[in-house]
Amino acid sequence: MDIRASDGRCELAPRRPARSLTARGARAAGGALYALLALASLAGAQAPGYEVTDEGAYLLERTSVSGPTAARLRATWDGAVTRVEEGLGLAVPPRPRAILAPTDAEFARRLEALGASTAHADALAVAFPGQGVVVVRERGIAEGTAAGLEATLAHELAHLALGQVEAARGARLPRWLNEGLAEWASGRRPTRDEVLTLGGLVVHDELPSLESLAEAFPPHGVGRAYLLALSFVGWLDAQEGGGGVGRLVQALSRGASIDDAVGAASGRTLADAEAAWRDALRAEYSLAEVLLRSVTVWTIAGLLALLAIARHLWRRRRLLRALEAADAADEGEEDDDALPDEDEVTTPGPPPTA
Ligand SMILES: [Zn+2]
Repeated sequence: MDIRASDGRCELAPRRPARSLTARGARAAGGALYALLALASLAGAQAPGYEVTDEGAYLLERTSVSGPTAARLRATWDGAVTRVEEGLGLAVPPRPRAILAPTDAEFARRLEALGASTAHADALAVAFPGQGVVVVRERGIAEGTAAGLEATLAHELAHLALGQVEAARGARLPRWLNEGLAEWASGRRPTRDEVLTLGGLVVHDELPSLESLAEAFPPHGVGRAYLLALSFVGWLDAQEGGGGVGRLVQALSRGASIDDAVGAASGRTLADAEAAWRDALRAEYSLAEVLLRSVTVWTIAGLLALLAIARHLWRRRRLLRALEAADAADEGEEDDDALPDEDEVTTPGPPPTA
């Protein structure tokens, strides 16, 4: 199971100035506020050894060794923004600051300098919505996996976009919802194996409740918590003919309660939606079990049938060979009859003489 070692954004993000704004004020300040924050950060927080470049859509802070990653970031930025905006129906705040940390030690140091704990130093990247900053751990990026740069960037940019929703609401979203939406925006979808893994956990009553993941994810089982959150958000999206995530995010943006926002997506209360989602996972797991048993039975039946056919063909071939051999023997005898016996061969005598 491929699990994103993702950020601890909720624990990491320091209290941000935007949090103190009223919802109306935050909306009015809009992009200008974030641009100002980004520029203020740019002016005041540039770390030694780093240079800052204006990339247009974002500000990039990097050391001299991060040229290749900077080039890939440039190539993937627009795609990541599109993933978030299409996936959530939310705008990414303008001109965030992206920091490329070239080593794990440097990543931890930058997190600490931004006011975050280093306990999440093994994360792929960390978003700081209050400061409009994303820090990327270059050594954690693995292209061709869920830890690719574009998916990782989209996940973190989703946190920045959701940070605006939180600021407008004046309250944090539950952790499971924030991470589930960020995973959804990154483009990750549960694989069949992951669905069955979750289904097995439901059947054995080992899947944590959403409520238990509202504040923080447990230190052990973080990957499972991310997958669970993504699975529930995906289930919500599929309800009422699809597009559930868009309805959910719109409701959240209007200040609806979590229960009402889940209702907008699925037509159910949060408790009923969670129960229905668990039932769906349980059903997937049960179906898979039935299929597995059926396949086993059919596989055995098929092998026995093939063995029977092979045995029949082998016997038939042996019989045919025996018959052919007998025919050949018979033909040989008939040919012999056609020829004169050796004794009967008469050598022509001398021509008669007159
Ligand atoms: Zn995250």
